[in-house]
Amino acid sequence: MSLLEIDNVTLRFGGVVAVNKVSFSVEEGEVFALVGPNGAGKSTLFNLVSRIYDPVEGDIRFDGKSILDKAPHEMARLGIARTFQNIELFEQATVLQNLLVGRHRHRKSNFVNELLFSPFVRGEERRHRDAVEKVIDFLDLQAYRDKYIAGLPYGVRKVVEMGRALAIEPRLLLLDEPASGLSVEETQDVAFWVEDIKTQMGITVLMVEHDMHLVSAVSDRVLALADGKALALGTAQEVQNHPKVIEAYIGV
Ligand code: ADP
Ligand code: MG
Repeated sequence: MSLLEIDNVTLRFGGVVAVNKVSFSVEEGEVFALVGPNGAGKSTLFNLVSRIYDPVEGDIRFDGKSILDKAPHEMARLGIARTFQNIELFEQATVLQNLLVGRHRHRKSNFVNELLFSPFVRGEERRHRDAVEKVIDFLDLQAYRDKYIAGLPYGVRKVVEMGRALAIEPRLLLLDEPASGLSVEETQDVAFWVEDIKTQMGITVLMVEHDMHLVSAVSDRVLALADGKALALGTAQEVQNHPKVIEAYIGV
C-alpha cells in the first residue's frame, strides 16, 4: 500500500482548473518531487493534501484511508507536516518557541491533566523539548535557538520553516520549494538534509522544487505537471527529457 494516494483529483478556482484529474502515489520511504512551470498546480496540490482545499472530484488517501473528512489542524496528529512556499513563522517568537508550537498542536494530554500539571504532562513536556532539541541539532540551528525570527536572515528562516515541520515528527513531510531564494551552498545543505530525513529519520518526503539539480540529487521519482495536468512520471532524467515536459517549458 502507498503512503499517500492522490486519486483523480480536480480543483477549480472559478474558470481556472488548477488541478485537473491528477493521480499519483507516494511510497513509504521515498522522496517524490513535483515539478512544473509557475501556475502548474503544485502548491494547490499541497493545499489539497493538507486539507486547506476540498477537491471537487477524486479522493486523497493517507495510509490507506481517505483524509477528505479531516481538517487542516488534524494533519499533524495523522503524521503529515508541511512547509509553506512563503515562510509562515511567528515573527515575535524565538526559533525554539516556533518549533515547540508545532508540537503543542498535537499534544495528547487532556484539559484536566493540564490544570493539575500532572507528572504525565511534565513527562510529555520533556518529550516535546527533546524532539525539538533533536531537530535544532540536526539542522545546525544551535546558534539561533533563542533568537527572534524577525531578526534572522532569509536563509535561516527557511531552515527554521523546515524545522517547524520536522519537529512534529511526521511520517510524511511536504516541502514547498525548500531551496527557493537560497544560495548554492545553502541549497547543498538542503540536499544533505533531505537525504538524511529520508535515510536516517525514515520520513517520506513529497517536495515541490524548481531547482532541477536539487530534484535530481535527492528524488527517487518525479512527476511533472503543467496547467493542472500530470504530464510525465519517472526519474528526474526521464522526466526532464520527456517531449511533453520540454514542450510545456518552452511553450511550443
Ligand atoms: P504552482 O504552485 O505550480 O506555481 P499554483 O498551485 O499556485 O501553481 O496555482 C495553480 C493555478 O491556480 C494558477 O493558475 C493560479 O493562478 C491558480 N490559483 C492558485 N491558488 C488560487 C486561489 N487561491 N484563487 C484563485 N486562483 C488560484
Ligand atoms: Mg507554488
